[in-house]
Amino acid sequence: MHEVVSLARELIRFDTTNTGDERGAGERRAAEFVAERLAEAGYEPTYVEPAKGRGNVVVRLPGADASRDALLVHGHLDVVPADGRDGWELPPFEGEIRDGYLWGRGAIDMKHMVAMSLAVARRFKRDGVVPPRDIVFAFLADEEDGGHQGAGWLVEHRPELFEGVREAISEVGGFSVDVRDDVRAYLVETAEKGSMWLRLKVRGTAGHGSMVHTDNPVAKLAAALTRLDRHRFPLVLSEPVRDFLAGVSELTGVPFDPDDPEAAVARLGSLARMIGATLRDTANATMLSAGSRSNVVPSVAEATVDGRMLPGREAAFARELAEVLGPEVEMDWDELPPVQTTFDGRLVDAMAAAIEAEDPGARVLPYMLSAGTDAKSFQRLGIRHFGFAPLRLPPGLDFTALFHGVNERVPIDGLEFGERVLDRLLRTC
Ligand SMILES: [Zn+2]
Repeated sequence: MHEVVSLARELIRFDTTNTGDERGAGERRAAEFVAERLAEAGYEPTYVEPAKGRGNVVVRLPGADASRDALLVHGHLDVVPADGRDGWELPPFEGEIRDGYLWGRGAIDMKHMVAMSLAVARRFKRDGVVPPRDIVFAFLADEEDGGHQGAGWLVEHRPELFEGVREAISEVGGFSVDVRDDVRAYLVETAEKGSMWLRLKVRGTAGHGSMVHTDNPVAKLAAALTRLDRHRFPLVLSEPVRDFLAGVSELTGVPFDPDDPEAAVARLGSLARMIGATLRDTANATMLSAGSRSNVVPSVAEATVDGRMLPGREAAFARELAEVLGPEVEMDWDELPPVQTTFDGRLVDAMAAAIEAEDPGARVLPYMLSAGTDAKSFQRLGIRHFGFAPLRLPPGLDFTALFHGVNERVPIDGLEFGERVLDRLLRTC
C-alpha cells in the first residue's frame, strides 16, 4: 500500500470528532501520531496544546532561498460527528477500503490532505529534498468549531511559528470537475464568504395560552424568519465567480452571459449548490427556542441564523438583515470576515504546472467557497489563502455532498494522484 494511503487510513481510525471541549481525546492522539511520523523522518515537531486534548503540530522545512517568503501547508485533524447508524454503508472510523475508495469520516474533510502533506514532508526530509523556499507544515485542531483551539489560537499566541509566511495552501480546492467528456478543471479556492452567526431575540407579553394575545413573541419571531426565508439578497458577480464561470464556458464552448450568471450556474450539475451560494449573501435559520409549557405564552422567543456574506458586503449585509427582520428583532452576532486573494503569482503558476504534468490538458480555475476554513484565522497574519488539496475525482461523483455527509470516501487513485501533484508543487513553488 502506498504510504499516503496507509497514513490516511490510520488518520481516519482516530475518531477526532470535534466535541467543542476536551471530551474528544482523538485530536490529541491524531496529533501525537502526526508528530511521531514527522520525528521518525528527522523533524523536531513543535507540539502545542492550547486546551486539554486539543493537539496541534507544526514543523518548518528550510528552503534554498531564505530571502523568499515561506509557504504554509496546513490541514485540520478534527472532523464533524459521524454515526454509523445514519446510513453509512461502512463504519465511519475504520478506514475500510472498498471499490477503490478509502471510506470514513474525514476522508475528504480533510485527512486526505493531512496524509498527503505528511507523506511529502516525510519524503523531503528522508531524501534531503531542499524546496525552493521554507515550507511550514501545520496540522491543526478545532477547525470545525471555529479554530479557537487550533489556527485561531496559534495566530494569536504563537505567530512566530509562521514567521515569513505570506501564502498558504489547504482545503477546499484542488479537486477535479469534469466539465466535458475527458476535460477536467481543477478548482482552486481564492475566496471565501464571510460568516455571521446571529442570535435573534423577540420580546413580547407573557400570559395564559387560552386568552387573546396580540404581542406573542413566538408569532412575531416566526413572521420575521419567514420574511427572511423569502428574502433574496442582491446578485453580485464577484471576480472569482466570474472567472470561474468564464473558464468553464471556455472549456465547454457554451457561451457565458455575465448578465445572467444564474443560467450558467444552473448548468453546473451537482456543483450548482455550492457555486450558486456564491452569487448572493445567504441567511438560513438553523435553531429556534421559546416557551416551556403548552398553555403559557412566553415573554421571549429566540432563534439562530447562519448568515454568509460575499467579500465587500459585510456592512450592507448586516443592514439588510436588520431591515428584513424588522425593528422588534434584537440581533447580536459573531462575525468572521470574508477572504479573497487574486489568482496570480508564482505559486498559482506552479499549481497549474503540477496539474498539467499529472493530468495533461486539464485547467486550473479560481472559485469562491460558500463556507469558511482556517484561512480566516491565517488571514489575520496577512497570509494569502489558496484552497488547493489536489484530488482527481471520477466523473459523476457528487463530491460536494460528501463534505460532512454520509459515506464520505476518497478514491485511492485520486489520493495517490494528489500526493504526486503536491510533491511537484512543493518542489517547484
Ligand atoms: Zn475541513
